[in-house]
Amino acid sequence: SAMREQRIRKTKTVCTFCGVGCSFDVWTKGRKILKIEPTEKAPVNGISTCVKGKFGWDFVNSEERLTKPLIRRGDSFVEATWDEVLDLIAEKFQEIKRTYGPDALGFISSSKVTNEENYLMQKLARSVIGTNNVDNCSRYCQSPATDGLMRTVGLAGDSGTIQDIAKAGLVIIVGANPAEAHPVLATRVKRAHKLHGQKLIVVDLRKHEMAERADLFVRPKQGTDHVWLSAVTKYIIDQEWHDKKFLSERVVGYDEYRKSLSKYTLDYAEEITGISKADLIQIATMIHEANGVAVLWAMGVTQHCGGSETSASISDLLLVTGNYGRPGAGAFPLRGHNNVQGACDFGTLPNWLPGYQLVSDKVSRKKFEDVWGTPLPTTPGMDNQQMLNAILEGKLRGMYLVGEDMAWVDTNANHVHEALSQLEFFVVQDVFFTKTAQFADVVLPASPSLEKEGTFTNTERRIQRLYQVFEPLGESKPDWEIICAIANRLGAGWTYQHPSEIMAEAAKVAPIFAGVTYDRLEGYNSLLWPVAPDGTDTPLLYTEGFGFSDGKARLALPNWVPPMTPDEEYDLHLNNGRLLEHFHEGNMTDKSPGLRKKVPDTFVEISLELAKERGIEDGALVRLVSRYGSVKVRAVVTDRVRGKELYLPMNTTSDQSAVNLLTGSATDVRTNTPAYKETFVRMEVLQPN
Ligand code: SF4
Repeated sequence: SAMREQRIRKTKTVCTFCGVGCSFDVWTKGRKILKIEPTEKAPVNGISTCVKGKFGWDFVNSEERLTKPLIRRGDSFVEATWDEVLDLIAEKFQEIKRTYGPDALGFISSSKVTNEENYLMQKLARSVIGTNNVDNCSRYCQSPATDGLMRTVGLAGDSGTIQDIAKAGLVIIVGANPAEAHPVLATRVKRAHKLHGQKLIVVDLRKHEMAERADLFVRPKQGTDHVWLSAVTKYIIDQEWHDKKFLSERVVGYDEYRKSLSKYTLDYAEEITGISKADLIQIATMIHEANGVAVLWAMGVTQHCGGSETSASISDLLLVTGNYGRPGAGAFPLRGHNNVQGACDFGTLPNWLPGYQLVSDKVSRKKFEDVWGTPLPTTPGMDNQQMLNAILEGKLRGMYLVGEDMAWVDTNANHVHEALSQLEFFVVQDVFFTKTAQFADVVLPASPSLEKEGTFTNTERRIQRLYQVFEPLGESKPDWEIICAIANRLGAGWTYQHPSEIMAEAAKVAPIFAGVTYDRLEGYNSLLWPVAPDGTDTPLLYTEGFGFSDGKARLALPNWVPPMTPDEEYDLHLNNGRLLEHFHEGNMTDKSPGLRKKVPDTFVEISLELAKERGIEDGALVRLVSRYGSVKVRAVVTDRVRGKELYLPMNTTSDQSAVNLLTGSATDVRTNTPAYKETFVRMEVLQPN
């Protein structure tokens, strides 16, 4: 009937479960989700989604949602009103600022919240409090890729679109598992490979689904990607296969770079990486023969002490072979969370203002000071690793953390817990009462993506709007409203009525968003930054020039940072990563019974060789012990891993099996991204079968 139809609504949203950026219609009746319906109009996914996008939304109506602000009373929490908590937050922040200065406060934003919310978070830190201590969880994943790209091509984003990846003659996937972590993107590659003769090389420790499909699959020793990349590049130059015209017209520093490669011979690379010379030559030959090379990489590259250097060497390889600025070519760091790209673009980074303008640059700062009407701090702030250490040193006293389960997703969880418990005042804002919330003084109930408006930016730099499907549950509020309320209690006088006004302000201060307006993003419309004032966007970067003032790219000199290695006591290498069915540490997907049932708990993958050597069978119960902690899990014996490599998925919220009880505190030398992948354990067999 007409009545009934009125109550059924269809609302467009953007998926919150990974950086691919699928969009679809959500059919609802009251608070019930009837179905998720992808449409031809969706620019990234068309009519596809993966299991998370299709079925992962029950968490929105979970009984466990936070619906009221909470204040700590001793060891427990009591419900409070918004007025009470806002007063308390303003009072404490002011007190800390007055006593210890603005840099005694830290702000951690989220790659799950919208662009507008990230913009406000850094504005609160910089303009209202007066500190650059603001960061987001790209520090845990893609900061090294950002660094490698900023140094070589001058912009930190995928070079082209996901459709461009499908056009490549050769796709190289390094340290990434897109079939599980970026499913719809992986589908595009699978199709191009199967139907259009695209070639595929996978370089990984673990034989995952894409590795099984690859034309060439090689398994380097852990942490040695930089070496094979540099050796392949050198071999290409030695064969005179480099793109001389591209290098002379568009790149500076080639001669010095070429000389610096001298040590990266095939012999050296074979010895260090364990990849045979024949395979190295085959990689180089496939690159040479391909019409367009796209390199996709993720945490297997970045979460190492040399993650930035390896990212730079990927970019070097692409520059030497002229694989930038044309369709089907370029650098594609695969963003994990749905809005990692946007969180960085909108300035929740300690050294960058929105639109990648340096905080240390006077001209950039002035522009923001004029629009914001306040002076800004001039020196880069602390990243989240530095903030944790500063808490332990007594320098950082208060923290405001939005949408990030730091206590569980950062490495060396025991160390993080120690730091968080020493904060004088800690505000945690999230959809659920997270592990991190246990350390908070105030917990604020936020609304998830389906309950708010705003924009997300996917891995391709594509900005897309999400529309409000439901009213906020209980007294929860969209993050942007909460950040505004806190700023205004601190006297900011912000008047934003809708996220579109926040975007309009960002467009004024950040040239890459100059032409972004909500009107241009209506419905399924989207824009890929940089967006010119007239609204023209840039799906493909570097067709004219690179992101430096002279328009030329720079080659980064190779610098291999050797990884840590196993020793007698901790003799096994522990790799870690995602599962298809879960989103990151599982904080949201855990609350989705359908997904939870498919993969009830985590496990560790053990090679056939190791299982034989230690006399254990599939299903054995083992304890893994590192220098930092221990976990207890069941073993899955599989040929996906080999030798003394283990693989522990990160998707658990169990205190027994969280991988970060094992990971250490070492970080990437340039960006401080934790070296999750350089973890070593010993294995104790508790029950052999
Ligand atoms: Fe969502 Fe990513 Fe799956 Fe698309 S591929 S539906 S964005 S989780």
